[in-house]
Amino acid sequence: MANYVNHPRYGCEPIISGNRYTKQEIDNAHWRYASLRYFPETAIPAAIEKQSYCVYPRQLYIDIEEQCVDCHRAFIFFAKEQQYWFEELKFWIDAHAIKCFECRKKSRAINQLQISYANLIIKEHRTLEETQLLKSSAQQLFESGVIKKINKINAIRKM
Ligand SMILES: [Zn+2]
Repeated sequence: MANYVNHPRYGCEPIISGNRYTKQEIDNAHWRYASLRYFPETAIPAAIEKQSYCVYPRQLYIDIEEQCVDCHRAFIFFAKEQQYWFEELKFWIDAHAIKCFECRKKSRAINQLQISYANLIIKEHRTLEETQLLKSSAQQLFESGVIKKINKINAIRKM
């Protein structure tokens, strides 16, 4: 079995559900399933009435093997994770995980830094702390490749 990126809540292996569904039942449970690499023994029933969909709900959730678009490592988009996304968080039914947990976490952190940076850079008057926070946000964004030019960071001064 492949070496999957760990998910702190669901682990790094398919979660066997004990439910038995035929390949036909699984492939019919969502229009996308037939084209995915999934683990048949992991399927769990879905509460369709809790999902946000237009035409095709997901009748079942199933552990799906994916490859992260950022780090290219294999990861599992878990049935239980889908249940949480679609029934609790009310994500649109066709949403799909394209990044592993670690890269999603990284992206969220970068988004936060970008928000903090954007809010501080437009301020007319910054306190010393705000300037330091701005500098450190800019430094981290530079290290993650979001900010390309070092002079943008060096130009940050207390105002
Ligand atoms: Zn990744």
